[in-house]
Amino acid sequence: MTPSSRTLVLIGGGHSHVEVLRRFARRPMAGVRIVLIGRDRYTPYSGMLPGLVAGRYSFDETHIDLAPLCRAARAEFVQDEAIGLDPAARAVLCRSGAMYRYDIVSLNIGSSPAAGLDAPREPNETDRARIHAPIHADIHADIAVKPIGRFLGQWADLCAHACTSPAQLRIAVVGTGAGGVEMVLAMQYRLNALLATAATAIPPPAFTLFGRAPHILPQHAASAGHRFTTVLAARGITVITGEDVTGLGDGRLRRADGSIADFDAVLWVTSASAAPWLRRTSLALTPDGFIAVTRHLRSISHASVFAAGDIATMSGDQRPKSGVYAVRQGPPLADNLRRALQDRPLRPYRPQRSALALITTGERNVIATRGNWSFQARLLWHWKDRIDRRFMRRYRVD
Ligand SMILES: Cc1cc2nc3c(=O)[nH]c(=O)nc-3n(C[C@H](O)[C@H](O)[C@H](O)COP(=O)(O)OP(=O)(O)OC[C@H]3O[C@@H](n4cnc5c(N)ncnc54)[C@H](O)[C@@H]3O)c2cc1C
Repeated sequence: MTPSSRTLVLIGGGHSHVEVLRRFARRPMAGVRIVLIGRDRYTPYSGMLPGLVAGRYSFDETHIDLAPLCRAARAEFVQDEAIGLDPAARAVLCRSGAMYRYDIVSLNIGSSPAAGLDAPREPNETDRARIHAPIHADIHADIAVKPIGRFLGQWADLCAHACTSPAQLRIAVVGTGAGGVEMVLAMQYRLNALLATAATAIPPPAFTLFGRAPHILPQHAASAGHRFTTVLAARGITVITGEDVTGLGDGRLRRADGSIADFDAVLWVTSASAAPWLRRTSLALTPDGFIAVTRHLRSISHASVFAAGDIATMSGDQRPKSGVYAVRQGPPLADNLRRALQDRPLRPYRPQRSALALITTGERNVIATRGNWSFQARLLWHWKDRIDRRFMRRYRVD
C-alpha cells in the first residue's frame, strides 16, 4: 500500500538518524513528508571526538552537516529543540513554541553525562552565551562533555586560558570509562602541544582522573585496562579509582573521605543519562529514564514512536550506550520506519553481542579491545583513521 500523505518526524540528528536520512535520500518514499528537528545543525561523530580535542582533526572533519543531508532526503530541517512529546495527540513541542504533528516519530537524541554536580540538564541560554565567553582567570569551571557543542566552546576557552595562565592549571576528569580515559589523554596531549609553542614558559597542567569503578575501563577487557594504566602513568596523569566524588560547583570536588579537592576545571564524562523532559511524557521509560523499545526499535508503550541510539534501551537486550550501537541501529531503524509508514510488519533487529572498541591515547596510538582481549599497535591508528574518514564521507553531500 502506498501511503497517501503521512508525516515522519525525526527528533535529533544522531548517529542513527543520519543513516535514516541517507537511506531516504537514496530511496525516497512518495507521499511522505519528513521533518528533522535538531538542536544542533552539526552532528559530531563520536569516534573522532577525542581526535578533535587532541587537535588532530578539524571541526568540519568530525561533524556531519544535517542541512544538506536533509535536503538530499527531501526532509525539512528545523533547528530547534524538542522539549515535549504528546503521543496521544501525536505532537512534538519545541523550545521555540512550534509544534509538529506526526504519524510516526523517531527519537535519536543521545544522552548526557550523569554529572555528580547537579541533575543533567539541557543547555540553557546562559550556557549558549558562555560558549564564546572566555573563562575568566579566577573562575573555576565545571564542564560536561555533552552537549558536545557547548563542551567544544568551553574547551576552546580552556585552551586559550591555559596558554596565558602563569600558574599551573589543575584539571580533573570524572569518569574512567573509554570516554573519560580518551578525553583526559586527548586534553593533555593538546594542552602540552599548545604550551610547547607558547611564547613564555608555562608549566603543563596537572591532570587527575577520578572513577567510581575499582579500575579503569570497567566495561572492557582487563588487559585493556592494564595497557591504559601504563599509558596514564607514563604520561604523569594521577588516577584515583574506586571513589565516588561529588561536584560542589566552581571546580570543587568532595572526595569519599569528605575532603574537598580544588581544580581549575572539572570535566564530567560519567555514565550516560537521559533527557529529563522524557519523564513528562507518557512514554514507557526504563527506571533510569531511557525510552524502552522492542527489538523493532519501537516504543513498548506507543506504536507510533520509535527510538534509537543512546536514548533507547532495548527491553531484555541491553547493550552499552556507545556510538557503535547507534550507528548499527541506523539501517534497521530506517527499514522499520518505512514499514511503519506503509503499515507493513516490522523486522526485529538483533544487536551484536560485543563490539570492537578502538580507544585512542591522544598520540597516534590506539588500543583495540573486544570481549576479553586487547591489542596495541601503531598501525591501528591509521586503520581507525581510515575507517572514521570513510564513515564521514558517507554523510557528506556535495
Ligand atoms: C568523549 C567521548 C568519546 C566517545 N567515543 C566513542 C567512540 O570512540 N566510539 C563509540 O562508539 N562511542 C563513543 N562515545 C559514545 C558516543 O558518543 C555515544 O554513544 C553516541 O554519540 C550516541 O549516539 P546517538 O546517535 O544516540 O546520539 P548523539 O550522537 O549524541 O546525537 C544526538 C543528537 O540529538 C540532538 N538532540 C539532543 N537533544 C535534542 C532535542 N531535545 N531536540 C532535538 N535535538 C536534540 C543533538 O543535537 C545531537 O545532534 C564517546 C562518548 C564520549 C563522551
